[in-house]
Amino acid sequence: MSKIKRTLEKQRKYFDSGATRNLDFRIEKLCALKKSIKNNEKQILEALWVDLHKSEFEAYATEIGIILEEINFAIKHLKSWAKTKKVRTPLTHFLSSSYIYSEPYGVSLIISPWNYPFQLLISPLIGSIAAGNCAMLKPSENAPKTTEVIIKIIEESFSEEFVCVVEAYGGKESSEALLKEAFNYIFFTGSVPVGKIVMEAASKHLTPVTLELGGKSPCIVDKDTDIKLAAKRIAWGKFINAGQTCVAPDYILVHKSVKEKLITEMAECIVEFFGENPEKSNDFPRIINKRQFDRLIGLLGGGKIVTGGEYNRAEKYIAPTIIDNITWNDPIMLDEIFGPILPILEFDDLGQVIEMVNSRPKPLALYLFSNNKKHQERIIDRISYGGGCINDTIMHVASPYLPFGGVGASGMNAYHGKGSYDVFSHKKSVTKKSNLLDVKIRYAPYSGKIKLLKKLMK
Ligand code: NAD
Repeated sequence: MSKIKRTLEKQRKYFDSGATRNLDFRIEKLCALKKSIKNNEKQILEALWVDLHKSEFEAYATEIGIILEEINFAIKHLKSWAKTKKVRTPLTHFLSSSYIYSEPYGVSLIISPWNYPFQLLISPLIGSIAAGNCAMLKPSENAPKTTEVIIKIIEESFSEEFVCVVEAYGGKESSEALLKEAFNYIFFTGSVPVGKIVMEAASKHLTPVTLELGGKSPCIVDKDTDIKLAAKRIAWGKFINAGQTCVAPDYILVHKSVKEKLITEMAECIVEFFGENPEKSNDFPRIINKRQFDRLIGLLGGGKIVTGGEYNRAEKYIAPTIIDNITWNDPIMLDEIFGPILPILEFDDLGQVIEMVNSRPKPLALYLFSNNKKHQERIIDRISYGGGCINDTIMHVASPYLPFGGVGASGMNAYHGKGSYDVFSHKKSVTKKSNLLDVKIRYAPYSGKIKLLKKLMK
């Protein structure tokens, strides 16, 4: 029997023992996880520096702090989330009451990508534990230093039969072997093509899935906005983690009357954030590997580079780069960029923007910079996307009160905060009927009963 099968069997047995049903048990496990993360904070920061050259500030904010907040939130609210919910009962069910129970699915499989290698594995795990599931974790093979620390934390916090890391350094083949097994839930974060593979594999066992995917997230800049502030917030959201963020603004659609000003202001922000030579900045990350680096360099061909454009393959460094004069047909507009390159397209009518965005796959995120309330509501109303911000970038992701996820090609289901508890819970509906009264109308023979039925159900 393979190691995966053996581990799965152990976890299933443990789940069936009922140990994870207890809410105090779940809270205790979340506390253990938090404690271990705190104890290993230095190691996590060092690993993220090695894997991605992430600064301490950025790594703490986007990988550690955000996770500690999620754990605190789950611990605080778990008992109220888990309460059985009594709901109303229709008259046709006379003398019964109705309830929604939350129950764990069983053993979940969590597969994560390399760009936020700590956060994107541990964040879904918080939901899985809160909801009472066992979990097998498959980190990305592309951030091996972070994986080392993750293994240490998971082993320190949990027994293998409850949560464990599997196939830690394995690539595609390992994930494929995992996907052959009948998990009770699969939570996948990664690219659209692999998301399709995961969903297909899950369909063989009818396993429910959450898919947190990517795509091209537009950033629209209207003429009626504070351009200096917009430039700053866009440059921050685009160049954090060197653009390797699923919800980074992928491209800019700017009103032509403010395009030049926006470009000048963004170029100034880059210097303000990372200095004249961002390669020397400790605050600007690197591309994860040479394969991704080469892919990104291949996108520098079209349009006119107005700032940046420098790179160093040995260091996997690509400067924060803005490219003007891009058209929808340029190669950079075909797929998600996922790097520090920002193409600019212009428009003069918001209707055109809506049409162009709606003719493409539904984005994971959308950002609009505009003080015009009508324009804000028009964009929210007319374009379907996972989530986003008005007059900011990325921040919607960091609120435990907002479910985070894609729609259509950018994914399905949403997590964070209560959302994480909900995606890992089955909602079981139960009607409890009294034996005091038995209304005869539902039983055959039906002759002479239809009139009354029609009065009850009209
Ligand atoms: P990826 O899809 O290549 O890999 C993700 C995970 O899937 C890895 O653990 C990998 O080992 C595994 N995998 C790879 N090939 C597989 C296969 N054939 N079968 C099964 N599993 C396989 O993604 P990536 O390059 O690690 O990450 C970048 C992508 O992730 C981008 O598209 C980005 O937008 C997306 N992403 C989405 C979110 C989100 O929350 N929506 C967050 C971060 C990244």
